[in-house]
Amino acid sequence: MIRTRLAPSPTGKMHIGTLRTALFDYFLAKQQNGKFIIRIEDTDQERLVPGAVENLLEMFTAANITHDEGPFLRDDGTIEERGAYGPYVQSNRLDIYKKYADELVEKGFAYPCFCTVERLDEMRKAQTALKQTTKYDRKCLSLTAAEARERIAAGESYVIRIKVPEGKTEFDDAVRGHVVFDHREVDDCIIMKSDGFPTYFLAMVIDDHLMEITHVLRGEEWVSSTPKSIIMFKMFGWDVPIFAHLPLILSPDKKKLSKRTGDTAVEIYFEHGYLAEALVNFIGTLGFNPSGDREIFTIDELVTSFDLNKVNAGGAVLNMEKLDWMNKQYLMALSAEDLVLRATPFVTVPIDDTVKRALFVERTRVSRLTEFNDVLKPYLALQEYNPAILVWKKADVTDAIAQLERMLALIETFSESTFESVELLETAIKEYITREGLQNGNVLWPLRVALSGQEKSATPFETLWVLKKETSQERLRHAIAALKK
Ligand code: GLU
Repeated sequence: MIRTRLAPSPTGKMHIGTLRTALFDYFLAKQQNGKFIIRIEDTDQERLVPGAVENLLEMFTAANITHDEGPFLRDDGTIEERGAYGPYVQSNRLDIYKKYADELVEKGFAYPCFCTVERLDEMRKAQTALKQTTKYDRKCLSLTAAEARERIAAGESYVIRIKVPEGKTEFDDAVRGHVVFDHREVDDCIIMKSDGFPTYFLAMVIDDHLMEITHVLRGEEWVSSTPKSIIMFKMFGWDVPIFAHLPLILSPDKKKLSKRTGDTAVEIYFEHGYLAEALVNFIGTLGFNPSGDREIFTIDELVTSFDLNKVNAGGAVLNMEKLDWMNKQYLMALSAEDLVLRATPFVTVPIDDTVKRALFVERTRVSRLTEFNDVLKPYLALQEYNPAILVWKKADVTDAIAQLERMLALIETFSESTFESVELLETAIKEYITREGLQNGNVLWPLRVALSGQEKSATPFETLWVLKKETSQERLRHAIAALKK
């Protein structure tokens, strides 16, 4: 069974790169009825940021993605390891890591190290001066087991390091292909810190094994730590999962995405008025496209068509115009009720029937939910405008007044039920134009501008539908009076 995991460190707001990894994890697991889990990697206590886990889970909820399992707290206070709760949290699992670290020491695969921070600093400086790779010089490897035990018993502070064997690590990365690391470049990294917390390197290997992870998807920045992981999987005699290092996400100007070059936090995309479906579609196809000529995919379609081996190894550039375009497609596809639900948090006026209708009309004309507030304004109150814009380019003031007066009279004859649909209004007005032998432009231009108060706006039929009879007539009277001045 395929089992994937997202293993974020809670060091800040959820990053869009994390969302992409989560989506790829999700697609891969769901495609084969596998499981997708979240594991909070909080063993580096100094880097923890309060609220980071909450933010991550909120973003999962906002994006409508769910994880499958996690420790479940029973009523009696005991924990069921694979319940339906979660996520897994590494700081709750310290005993487990300690046991395995001790096992590596016993087997001679790891050793205690008593070197002070000062000594390590000097060592690194000397190595840098000689242009050597900076790595631990193995001073403490020469200690006998008895010596080490004595120093530990005397209360000396120590860490545990793995003893990287000679040779090389090779693996087939599902995205990057065959990768080789010479162990001369691999440090005897710390796996247990002096505070009793494991480092990422150890905790990840143990948890990926115990949680039966089959595919490790993560950002490309982790590729150089993979030999350490593989070395440890082998020391324990465990199966090595498949690794897939996902390419960097690049800012629109093709630089590494950072707070300076683009929006990194998932939260900001929601705040900017992108719909969950659009964001999932956009981020879930960053560096992967199921088919050449299509862009819009539901999450289920992405699940079905996802193929790890087709993820591009090159950096994926954030194309914000594309995201806006996608969002617009999803906005246009929303039902009227759904649209109101989604727009409500972004709209500062009470949602009444006029606002609902205006939202529906304007949904084809905005790209993001945040734009609604501005486009609603002309419906709620006529904005001041220059009466000259009422006159169509092929007509004059006299004609504009005549057409508006005709429309005012015509609208007077409309029953309330005509205002129940844009189509009814359109048919009635167009029939009138034909019957009277008028030109569309002469009639519809001043009508539309008089109703909206704007040079560019929705169609006059849509605006009539939103404003209804009384307000529409008021606006026509206002326009006629303005032209007559
Ligand atoms: N805890 C690592 C991070 O913060 C995860 C790396 C991995 O997925 O193995 O990104």
